[in-house]
Amino acid sequence: MHECCGIFGVYAPNEDVARLTFFALFALQHRGQESAGIATTDGKKLQVYTDMGLVSQVFNEDSLSQLSGDIAIGHTRYSTRGSSRIVNAQPLVVGRGSNAIAIAHNGNIINTEHLCEELSDQGYTFRTSTDTEVIANLILSSPEKNWVEKIRYAMHRLQGAYSLVIMTNNHLFGVRDPFGVRPLCLGSIDGSRVIASESCALDHIGASFIREIEPGEIVSITENGVDSYREETDRRALCIFEYIYFARPDSVINSRLLYSARLAMGEGLAEEHPVAADLVMGVPDSATAAGIGYSHRSNIPLGEGLLKNRYVGRTFIEPDQRIRDLGVKLKFNPLPLMLGGKRVVVVDDSIVRGTTTPKVVQLLKRAGAKEVHMRICAPPIRYPCFFGVDMATRWELIASQKTIPQVRDFIGADTLGHLSIDGLIKAVALPKNIFCLACFTGDYPIPVQLEMDKLALETMAQQGHPGIKPQ
Ligand code: SF4
Repeated sequence: MHECCGIFGVYAPNEDVARLTFFALFALQHRGQESAGIATTDGKKLQVYTDMGLVSQVFNEDSLSQLSGDIAIGHTRYSTRGSSRIVNAQPLVVGRGSNAIAIAHNGNIINTEHLCEELSDQGYTFRTSTDTEVIANLILSSPEKNWVEKIRYAMHRLQGAYSLVIMTNNHLFGVRDPFGVRPLCLGSIDGSRVIASESCALDHIGASFIREIEPGEIVSITENGVDSYREETDRRALCIFEYIYFARPDSVINSRLLYSARLAMGEGLAEEHPVAADLVMGVPDSATAAGIGYSHRSNIPLGEGLLKNRYVGRTFIEPDQRIRDLGVKLKFNPLPLMLGGKRVVVVDDSIVRGTTTPKVVQLLKRAGAKEVHMRICAPPIRYPCFFGVDMATRWELIASQKTIPQVRDFIGADTLGHLSIDGLIKAVALPKNIFCLACFTGDYPIPVQLEMDKLALETMAQQGHPGIKPQ
């Protein structure tokens, strides 16, 4: 399960803005590992450097020293819409002269095709296959006179998830969609302003957190300071997976430290699904904190049963089917000394397709575990995500096709327990109505998404796709 991007922006005259952005992108690397890029402006023109790979592979002294200016934006990408190619790497620079913008996007726009057709009819051309270019051209196509109004025009037309940093020759903007699906925060460094997907990026560059950028808000940063423009929104829909898995445990979102939320998820799992066992372990790294929480609440000793090889990146695993099949073995090595003859509780963040979990269970059993009890922080995922999370289509989601006992048997565990939705909300300790829970409930914040899902299902059923019955 993958999220789609990390974004960062800084307005800091007289600072090395490219280098600040480079270090901030390091902290956001977990949000996307396919490509990275930085754009800067010196007030006269926009410059951009992007390439495929990790931040550390993309940039060196040479490339950073060519990026000068007072403002910078940066991006780390995992592609959900638009293939993983250099042309789709961000930031994108779109437009010309004083009408040019650089843009970096985290999210997924669902009415892209319609907007793309409309913009093409008006003569706009597209060189990438990303929804980000659609957003940029929509902003440029606006009849409004100033940038804030142009962005607002685009916001009224866009449907879906978008946290954005946008740069003109002399403005930096931070924009968050009206649902607030993806996080975005505002910080300060030596009197200058920064914008980041997560607060951990601020910590890394020595910036202090000021506040979240609110759903539906445009933050404008110029030499005159910071201005905010906001329209009230009816419904919020922050992706709950930011708390379960995506965001780093040292980030704070809505005043809640992710590490604490994950500890509480483990405690909730121990309360909802107790079991007699000898050892608790969290699948590293995303479920480490939840494993600790389970151990605290159950008084079952905590241990490490799997060691993670942190240097096996997605780009390495992807290209070769033989290596991809090895997958879990390359990523984890079990510790027979810890596992031999023991009843083990294994806490993990989620089960999506059910392709990885059986391999983990098998690895633990082969290493000598007598029993394996899977405990999962996410409730069963029964519906796909249209908000930019590369999850699976509905018929690929194991919980939409099988009951929990059937999933337990399929993954080869002795028992299986998911945290309930109420247990998850209790662990996060924030109001339920600020979250998107659509992949558990099917209650999509944007009705058209459900329609799209139904339509896709009907089409697949008509085509006789296995496992899909006409609704
Ligand atoms: S559907 Fe699930 S993964 Fe997608 S935004 Fe909503 S909570 Fe997040």
